[in-house]
Amino acid sequence: MNCPVCNNSESKKMLIRNQETGSSEDRPALMCKACKTIFAEDYQKDRSGLYSENYAPWSDDSGYVAESKTNTFKSQLSLALPYIAPKGKKLLDAGTAKGYLMTAASQLGFDVYGFDISKSAIDSAKKVFPNKVFCGTIEDADYKDSEFDMITTTDILEHLVDPHKFMEKASQLVKKGGLLLIITPNSGSITRKILRKNWYQYKEEHIIYYNKKSLAHLLKKHGFELIFAKANTKTFSLKYTYEYVKKYKIAVMGSIFAKVFPLLPEFVKNASFSNPMAGEIIALARKT
Ligand SMILES: [Zn+2]
Repeated sequence: MNCPVCNNSESKKMLIRNQETGSSEDRPALMCKACKTIFAEDYQKDRSGLYSENYAPWSDDSGYVAESKTNTFKSQLSLALPYIAPKGKKLLDAGTAKGYLMTAASQLGFDVYGFDISKSAIDSAKKVFPNKVFCGTIEDADYKDSEFDMITTTDILEHLVDPHKFMEKASQLVKKGGLLLIITPNSGSITRKILRKNWYQYKEEHIIYYNKKSLAHLLKKHGFELIFAKANTKTFSLKYTYEYVKKYKIAVMGSIFAKVFPLLPEFVKNASFSNPMAGEIIALARKT
């Protein structure tokens, strides 16, 4: 089976295990021998059923979750500020869910737009950004070519069967000299090498796992030059982590944390931390 990123035909078989369900079943995957992208052997299978309106990232968030996500997006976006002055610049967030990145970007001065395949998530984004969002995919985007100064896509690429189709459209929508910011799990990360098949980024709906080399390849093919690609840092509170481990039943560390957390003083529960071990890559590229 050819690599979905670089089309190389040689790959190495490996096993990965879905983490969010606490599954003990292995699933077959392949690692491209050329660009080291990891992809599920059945990555082309129709997984649309997974994205019901109950899909976790679109579920109800209480105040601190929304705040935590917005703060994380703000620090991620700030990495692009040496390359773009946001005031009045048009930014499109591809896969915006409830629009937290849009909120962060508008606070920085961007003129923000977004879309998502979830109707309920978009309904909630619409309350904050009426007329600036739509429900659908990038192929449904009804914007002019070169309309945007920047496109962001966080935690989306790893879900897409055909990254080239997405990148082709993204490349059309962003103007020459404009930016593309991508956040996606990093198959080259130290966390994957340590945790092996139990890496926490392995999920049923994550079908392609990129790394610095494969992202650079993808970007170049679609007319972008890489500015940087580095480990993504997530800002989180312990309270957020507690809700997360409860929801995803993360094995040993999760159960220890779930026991310890209720015993902590309130100010520690609410404190925010930076986690450089997210196992993700953040890449910024410029349209050439
Ligand atoms: Zn490859």
